Amino acid sequence: MKKKIVILGAGESGVGAAVLAMKKGFGVFISDFGKIKEKYKNVLSQFEIKYEEGKHTESLILKADEVVKSPGIPDETELVRKVKKTGIKVISEIEFAGRYTSAKKICITGSNGKTTTTLLTHHILKKAGLNAGLAGNVGQSFAMQVAEKDFEYYVLEISSFQLDGMFDFKADIAVLMNITPDHLDRYADDFQNYIDSKFRIAQNQSENDAFVYCADDPVVLKEIQKREIKSGLYPFSIKRKISGEGAFLQGNEMLINIKPNFLKMTIENLALQGKHNIYNSMAAGIASRILNIRKDIIKESLSDFQNVEHRLEFVACIHGVDFINDSKATNVNSTWYALESIHNPVIWIAGGIDKGNDYSILNDVVKEKVKALICLGKDNKKLFNAFEDVMEDIIETTSMEDAVKYASFLASKDDTVLLSPSCASFDLFENFEERGNEFKKAVSNL
Ligand code: ADP
Repeated sequence: MKKKIVILGAGESGVGAAVLAMKKGFGVFISDFGKIKEKYKNVLSQFEIKYEEGKHTESLILKADEVVKSPGIPDETELVRKVKKTGIKVISEIEFAGRYTSAKKICITGSNGKTTTTLLTHHILKKAGLNAGLAGNVGQSFAMQVAEKDFEYYVLEISSFQLDGMFDFKADIAVLMNITPDHLDRYADDFQNYIDSKFRIAQNQSENDAFVYCADDPVVLKEIQKREIKSGLYPFSIKRKISGEGAFLQGNEMLINIKPNFLKMTIENLALQGKHNIYNSMAAGIASRILNIRKDIIKESLSDFQNVEHRLEFVACIHGVDFINDSKATNVNSTWYALESIHNPVIWIAGGIDKGNDYSILNDVVKEKVKALICLGKDNKKLFNAFEDVMEDIIETTSMEDAVKYASFLASKDDTVLLSPSCASFDLFENFEERGNEFKKAVSNL
């Protein structure tokens, strides 16, 4: 009898996994508790894949030999618990697709900087003429690409939720950008659980593989000492010299030392500016050098890369006031880097769904730079309380239009209005993209 794969969640990753499973000859059933988008239904029909929406039929799901679960579905849901209790293995789409490709995989994780570093690395590989796919949390599903054309290389952005469903998968080059508290609501409020999840990026690696990591991150450093990582270590730092292979700063030059030589590049020439982007450029540069990509190609790519939407995206300058869209900043650490990179007084728009934020790490930078805080969320209490002693002007709003109007009213020439919410967007918006787009629309209506 055919082995049965059940897929939970019919979004980009689930539908990709379903198509791959079908092509590999499994019996496939895909179940989504919400509504399935029309474009995905069309794909499922085209491949004659059985599906259900608006419900999970347990009797069918529990007959699976293996379940591929969307990263959006928490492990704590009753259904997932039942599936596991029955002894059915629950894996992620990345784990599943990884079984069917022999491509070299560059896998990027961290609390912040994943998407930017993934896109930057992919940009370099493409410029070098490598046959490279881009997948994971960005773009088209990894499984779908493996099913349809397969590449020789993949640059994969991998979240902790995907890592939680990865067991035998191995990254040829693993990149860990940083670890700061995030998503604690899905990790029983225990930071260590989240750290353990992030370190799965290096699991199954051997001496021939590479582990690229930020040597300025205290959490990462401490964990590396605790663990036995078998792969070659490639640290990067903007605070100290790295003596072996890796990357560091010397004056205003970024040095990437991968045998047999050094790549040197002035940081003013990087397309992405700001301290956090030096990290991102270093990580992408190291991974590319490990793949033996020529230095001049890497330098050219790091300088002509086009910034990604919703990440410190410059929107407009109106009457001398800059408007910056950093809607993708969904935790406090990314907001810290955003505020750090701005040199004008800031009118800061923040708020949304708090995933267990500790706002105190922002206190100093907020005191130094923020003139006024505009809270934008259904429930602004926690954010308000966190800053009421630090800031005179705090305004509560529940719509982007109001938030931008107030911000513009409070701003003087040479101020910056920054949307950097530190929170998820689902209370008022579909996702962070919609939030960022509404910000841009409200700015253009001023
Ligand atoms: P992710 O995919 O991990 O969420 P992004 O590249 O989309 O990361 O960036 C998310 C937010 O984090 C952006 O607002 C950006 O300004 C900030 N950021 C980007 N890179 C870093 C980094 N290396 N360290 C800290 N913050 C960063």
